[in-house]
Amino acid sequence: MSDGFPGFVSKAREILEGGSGLEDIEDFRALLCTDCAFYHHGEEENEECGSFLLLKALLERGAFDLERALRELG
Ligand code: SF4
Repeated sequence: MSDGFPGFVSKAREILEGGSGLEDIEDFRALLCTDCAFYHHGEEENEECGSFLLLKALLERGAFDLERALRELG
């Protein structure tokens, strides 16, 4: 099932292993946007859709469990 979210899985693993954090917008993009069909890497005009903003807010508040998400995605 994780085949559908390779970018998310890769970045989430990196974060959980301590190789990366969620420090700036590019970290959130790498986690939440790289699997999105509308994402254009490095382009400033990437919009911040409702899903991105919701998940970013949850992550910032510690209400999004990356470990559990990875488990569920297999
Ligand atoms: S902000 Fe939303 S629409 Fe834009 S690339 Fe990220 S997930 Fe896709």
